[in-house]
Amino acid sequence: MKNPNTKLFSFCPGCGKERLIPDGIKSFSCRACDFKFYLNTAAAGIALIFNPDRKLLVTRRKNEPARDTLDLPGGFIEPDETAEQGLIREVKEELNLDVDDLTYFCSVPNRYLYRTVLYSVTDLVFICRVADLTPLTPADDVSQAFFADVATIDPNEFGLHSPRVVIEKLIKQNR
Ligand SMILES: [Zn+2]
Repeated sequence: MKNPNTKLFSFCPGCGKERLIPDGIKSFSCRACDFKFYLNTAAAGIALIFNPDRKLLVTRRKNEPARDTLDLPGGFIEPDETAEQGLIREVKEELNLDVDDLTYFCSVPNRYLYRTVLYSVTDLVFICRVADLTPLTPADDVSQAFFADVATIDPNEFGLHSPRVVIEKLIKQNR
């Protein structure tokens, strides 16, 4: 993928001079002081929440990027959070649900374009057990939430790469 970040950063965070040159997709070097600036991957969580009928909780995105397309609950892990804590927080914020238990499922490398900056993201996917689904209320950056039979979900309705990959994986497993 073309890297739009290469022209975004030119001032060195080390010496402040406008001598930052991209090395490749993930780092920049300062020609003045030898500082190396890395664009490291950010961690994010994705929640797979099934109801007692084994239907999957799917959401619709309220905001850009990929506004109005289908999505899965989750979001970026904040500094000093574990992936589990971050995902529990996001599920509470987006859906008002309390996650009782998490089981690691898989991870997906992703690129996330926010306005002009392309972020590298590592999405960590967990199966989240929620004992009480009655408080379910879409909020935050989620406009709609519903349960769907995995076999009937069209992965192409998911606007972002990672949830689409996860849905494809679930469909394959279900066969
Ligand atoms: Zn410098």
